[in-house]
Amino acid sequence: MEKFDVIVAGLGPAGAPLLYHLAKRGFRVLGVDMRGWEDFWGKPCGDAIGAHHPREAGLPPLPGRVIKNVVHGIDIYSPGETTRYRIRGEGYIIDRRAMGEWLVKEAIARGAEVKLRSFILAPIIEGGRVVGIKVREGDTVKEYRASVVVEATGFSRVIRKKLPRGWPVAEDIEPTDTNIAYREIIAYEDYEVEEPDIIRIYIDQEIAPGGYWWYFPESKTKVNAGLGVQGGRGHPSPTSLYRKLVSRHPLFQKRFHVENAAGAPLPTRRPSDTMVGPGVIVIGDAGYTVNPLHGGGMGYAFRAAFFAANAFEEAYNAGRFDEAALWSLNKAYMNAIGARQAALDVFRIFLQSLPNEDIRYGMEKRLIPEQDVYYTSTEGEIKISILEKAGIILRGLGRPSLLSKLRIVAEYMKKVREHYRGYPDTPQGLEPWRARLRSLYSEYRAALASR
Ligand SMILES: Cc1cc2nc3c(=O)[nH]c(=O)nc-3n(C[C@H](O)[C@H](O)[C@H](O)COP(=O)(O)OP(=O)(O)OC[C@H]3O[C@@H](n4cnc5c(N)ncnc54)[C@H](O)[C@@H]3O)c2cc1C
Repeated sequence: MEKFDVIVAGLGPAGAPLLYHLAKRGFRVLGVDMRGWEDFWGKPCGDAIGAHHPREAGLPPLPGRVIKNVVHGIDIYSPGETTRYRIRGEGYIIDRRAMGEWLVKEAIARGAEVKLRSFILAPIIEGGRVVGIKVREGDTVKEYRASVVVEATGFSRVIRKKLPRGWPVAEDIEPTDTNIAYREIIAYEDYEVEEPDIIRIYIDQEIAPGGYWWYFPESKTKVNAGLGVQGGRGHPSPTSLYRKLVSRHPLFQKRFHVENAAGAPLPTRRPSDTMVGPGVIVIGDAGYTVNPLHGGGMGYAFRAAFFAANAFEEAYNAGRFDEAALWSLNKAYMNAIGARQAALDVFRIFLQSLPNEDIRYGMEKRLIPEQDVYYTSTEGEIKISILEKAGIILRGLGRPSLLSKLRIVAEYMKKVREHYRGYPDTPQGLEPWRARLRSLYSEYRAALASR
């Protein structure tokens, strides 16, 4: 029986950077993934990341082959495309396969062991803690053991779903806190995309209920186009909605062929209330570390991996791998990112409840002005000056209910952020903190519904 310091279960955008960080620090680490190099990081994605993400997550500069397209801004269209916001900022459309292979090979070069085409079946739990995993390799089932197992299998949550229900880290996700998304890579035959360095997001509750559709150029002639809808609401499937869109929208009335088509679910809620348990860490989609507003999860998976490597190192130095020893991951993630993501979750719930008319109206009147959209969507805060300006507009136009809703949203975004400032220092504080968080969410939903 082999024993590792850490087993990283799943080598996607969460697992691969963690493998890299741990190997670089000299730990004995095993990474396991069911895919091979040819379809590595093969889960469908929009492939867009902010240029700052890899840097902030302590990763080396991305080699040229990983970057398919350099992006200089994002356009957000209102329902009916009557209003367009342009937000400047640098980002990339990445080649996920190339990025995953690059990172994992960097880790292997630093001593990591890797098993590809190996299917993780379950955690091994002994004495009230996770001690390893069971893996199907070809026709045999093998067991691997480690001081800590990191659950990074994405939304499938292979490890997490099999943890005892009583463990706080086993927290499940509500279907309404998910999006189901479908995307195609299309290659135009005789058309060049206008402004291929601008990615586009289209909000429309009829075309993409509770989500949006996107058009992300990979080059002048190739585009990653897709559509996400909120789960748990009985909406039509994203594939059928996408088909409808393609049959009508001018961007798809050119000759093109489809190079790849696939769909997948993703979490769109605040991060997991705790990302650690006895002998176990959860990060990436498995830990719900996605931006609830736009569903971008790769950058936050990278960051969570970096914090997880730090937490493991601390626990290792302390010679203990229980929940308390790993707790610093929660503190680091909640302080740096989780509090903002939770505030954006509050905003997401509001946005999903709005009819097209209100969204169109809000964007036309620039209730949240263009230059503040980036601030709001990254900081999770609506500035008072925005509320004041929106108040004048909405009162003048006789839309008091939208104004009072916006006030409630801003108030609860603030309350939730502040609640995260008091994230507990130890596992003992989790239950009361969580109970208060749940009651804040219930109060918020009730207040929104009453307007
Ligand atoms: C259609 C769509 C579009 C998106 N667009 C964007 C975008 O433009 N930008 C962005 O930042 N985010 C986007 N996201 C979200 C982003 O894709 C995820 O947040 C990100 O991939 C999460 O990384 P992860 O490592 O947690 O999970 P995953 O990417 O799902 O990786 C999990 C890994 O675990 C492996 N695995 C799973 N189960 C097992 C098993 N039983 N045994 C062995 N291995 C296993 C998988 O092979 C995989 O390598 C999008 C998501 C979807 C669905």
